[in-house]
Amino acid sequence: MKIAIAGAGAMGSRFGVKLQQAGNAVTLIDNWAAHVQAIQANGLVVTKDGHDTVVPMTAALPQDVHSTFDLVILFTKAMQMDHMLQELKAQLSNQPAVLVLANGIGNVETIERYVPQQNIVAGTTVWSSSLTGPGHITVTGTGSISLQAIAPDQFHDLDRIVDTLNGAGLKASPAPDVLAAIWKKAGLNSVLNTYCTLFDCNIAEFGALPNWRELTAGVLDEFQAVAAAANVAFDAQADTDLIAAQFAPDKNGDHYPSMHQDMANRRPTEIDFLNGYVAQLGQKLRVPAPNNALLTQLIHSQEALHGIA
Ligand code: NAD
Repeated sequence: MKIAIAGAGAMGSRFGVKLQQAGNAVTLIDNWAAHVQAIQANGLVVTKDGHDTVVPMTAALPQDVHSTFDLVILFTKAMQMDHMLQELKAQLSNQPAVLVLANGIGNVETIERYVPQQNIVAGTTVWSSSLTGPGHITVTGTGSISLQAIAPDQFHDLDRIVDTLNGAGLKASPAPDVLAAIWKKAGLNSVLNTYCTLFDCNIAEFGALPNWRELTAGVLDEFQAVAAAANVAFDAQADTDLIAAQFAPDKNGDHYPSMHQDMANRRPTEIDFLNGYVAQLGQKLRVPAPNNALLTQLIHSQEALHGIA
């Protein structure tokens, strides 16, 4: 398959390497010029278990991409997605399938502004990766992907996409209700990412707080009320259990969530697509979500204090 990875940071690069190694023709498309230049000059360096592997890959800035693709995998941060889609309008006119696995709620609405519903596949992934520097990622562990076509009755290529991902060892399987899966992951991120960033702590330290359950319920009870009004399945108790399962050091206890890393690296966070999305949707649907609105403001204030635009 001819595949474009649009947004080839930590995750996009990891997926790109695996798909290329499985025999697909992969182009990494990214707006970070230093990253693109490093890959063009030296290949992508992948560090795993302390060993570096150099993988020669095709990389380009969006404006330099002139080919078309069978599949575009969008892996920007949620707030970068609209801009990337604008830049790829010419490639999208060829009607490729577009797969999005980025975190946050609302990505599908963004994509629908540029891509017909029947070409969109959405999902979640528990693969992980870190961008160590331009042209360099560090990867650990394995993961899996759950995905579903947004208009299942009109999209007939899902098996081919699932087979392509599985051929690359990415462990993909169709999800019965991808919107519920996206909200479930967003619920977890809206607790762990947000509080660990505000408290400057890791996941185990959050879990050791005597009031972690109250803090979690403050976010997830509002998620549940807003989800119900939006006809999305969401179970606050199940999400709380999922969060509790992350506290052990052999799970994710030692991990600082990506929002914490973004704040530390002085980069914008995905808060508007997590707590912020639920606060806004709640306002629209007349379901109050004051805790999520306040947490969104607190993260934006921290961004402002750090001079993050
Ligand atoms: P990333 O920050 O590594 O990359 C996203 C974009 O930001 C890329 O275009 C990248 O080039 C650019 N970027 C990164 N650092 C930059 C810098 N210093 N200067 C200029 N540009 C820079 O993002 P990611 O971790 O790959 O995440 C992509 C999506 O996947 C997000 O929605 C994230 O929440 C989600 N996700 C990430 C992980 C993970 O382990 N990283 C796991 C699951 C889901």
